[in-house]
Amino acid sequence: MLNIVIFGAPGSGKGTQSELIVKKYNLVHLSTGDMLRDEIARGTDIGRFADTLISKGNLVPDDLIIKMISAKIDERKGDCNGFIFDGFPRTVAQAEALDALLASFGKKLTLMLDLRVEEPLLVERLLKRGETSHRADDNLEVIKKRLQVYHEVTMPVIEFYKSTGRYVAVENCTTVEEYFQSIVQLIEFSICGF
Ligand code: AMP
Repeated sequence: MLNIVIFGAPGSGKGTQSELIVKKYNLVHLSTGDMLRDEIARGTDIGRFADTLISKGNLVPDDLIIKMISAKIDERKGDCNGFIFDGFPRTVAQAEALDALLASFGKKLTLMLDLRVEEPLLVERLLKRGETSHRADDNLEVIKKRLQVYHEVTMPVIEFYKSTGRYVAVENCTTVEEYFQSIVQLIEFSICGF
């Protein structure tokens, strides 16, 4: 099984790269942001609760996120090549929970890919996306809050993966294609060691 965390600040291109990785390696794409937006669209209790947090740029509580991802892993773990986790984990507690979930059926995380993008470019991209995404959180005030939360709460996840030898940075790329080429090389290296 190939299990990958795609990590990075809001606007770093996690969703775009996930789609390309999914196509090449035939993985199941689990995006906690997409799952939450689906709950919001369906008007569920979880969706209404999550909406109040997401629209202000805050994180949704760990227990709710872990429950949601655990259910999705359970649904697919028997019939897939592996998972790509997009937007999850966003806290060290979530990263620890992911290790435990995978270990519960004898699997491990293969690697964590950190998409490194300069901050001014992140803001520019998110504002541009906001013109068409109609996402409540793609406006300047909420973008600033999301980046602050990323620095304070989510970046410690990097240390967690560095300390367990599964961290890989993807940097110095400009185009989507360049990022993807680097990612493929890193995945191949982690699978085959060349
Ligand atoms: P994303 O689509 O990944 O940018 O996520 C959009 C928003 O959903 C985030 O700003 C958070 O409010 C919430 N969210 C998504 N994934 C998580 C997570 N793993 N933990 C906590 N909140 C999350």
